[in-house]
Amino acid sequence: MIVYGPIPSRRLGQSIGINNIPPKVCSYSCIYCQIGRTNKMQMSRHAFYRPDDICSEAEVKLRQLKAENRQADYFSFVPDGEPTLDLNLGKTIMLLKPYRVKMAVITNASLLWMDDVKEDLMNADWVSVSIDAADEGTWRKIDRPHGMLNHHDILNGIVEFSKSFHGTLVTETMLVEGVNDQEACIERIAEQMALIQPQKAYLLVPSRPPAESFVKRASADSLRKAVSIVRAISAVDVECITGDEAEEGFFFTDEISDDILSIASVHPIREDILNALLQKKRTDKSVLTELVKSGRLSDFIYEGKRFYKTNILGDLS
Ligand code: SF4
Repeated sequence: MIVYGPIPSRRLGQSIGINNIPPKVCSYSCIYCQIGRTNKMQMSRHAFYRPDDICSEAEVKLRQLKAENRQADYFSFVPDGEPTLDLNLGKTIMLLKPYRVKMAVITNASLLWMDDVKEDLMNADWVSVSIDAADEGTWRKIDRPHGMLNHHDILNGIVEFSKSFHGTLVTETMLVEGVNDQEACIERIAEQMALIQPQKAYLLVPSRPPAESFVKRASADSLRKAVSIVRAISAVDVECITGDEAEEGFFFTDEISDDILSIASVHPIREDILNALLQKKRTDKSVLTELVKSGRLSDFIYEGKRFYKTNILGDLS
């Protein structure tokens, strides 16, 4: 399934996910990635799925929601990789416009120096760009980019985009202990945010099983310091997302196994949330047991909590 959810999100409300990239094609291989290590690293854009097929699936999803008297706040491009690698991203956004659901794209921003990528994103309503580091050394350590990418071009591309984009632009910074949570790193990031002036700067910590087991979330103290540094230097509104917030409102159709697999491929789900959903659907846990037994789903313990993640291409982590 290319279209999944909706999944609840603090930033976007109920958002229908669009998985417009096959697993796991990305221009980065972030150490904290919840999907696992990147096995298809690329920085050139390709056509992956047909925009018409994505629209048909989106239409079905909207009909299912309507039948349950529910609504979606956003279509969000949050795939198994980097959404702007899709050559058809702009076309798909335009085809989805008539459904009158706002459009969000969560991008690592690595291709924003390309004019066609900027043009594609111009038609979205909400764009989130990642800025995990504003110095090259830290960027290489945390995001492990494609070898041909140039950090300076990317940062300039984000600034240029921020000047012409009329929708809501936010930034996302994942803070990993000992990697990019030092004051000097945050100061550089804050200086970059001062140039971009996003509507909000989100500071996150890894809250789901990361690609690399050494990854630890930044401490509460580092987060507090980061918030005050970013506010002081950039005068931008800052919000922290620690993953401890309640996640309710996942939407399951009657195809529960398919729903679990499509959501857990991009968004590992905590056991307690999954159990509550199964209960709501009056389904017992045998669905989960079967998926794990067949090797399509894996369970992981992260920070003392069990998560379920889809095995997209065997074990990616
Ligand atoms: S976190 Fe996003 S940008 Fe980083 S490797 Fe995963 S999919 Fe790619």
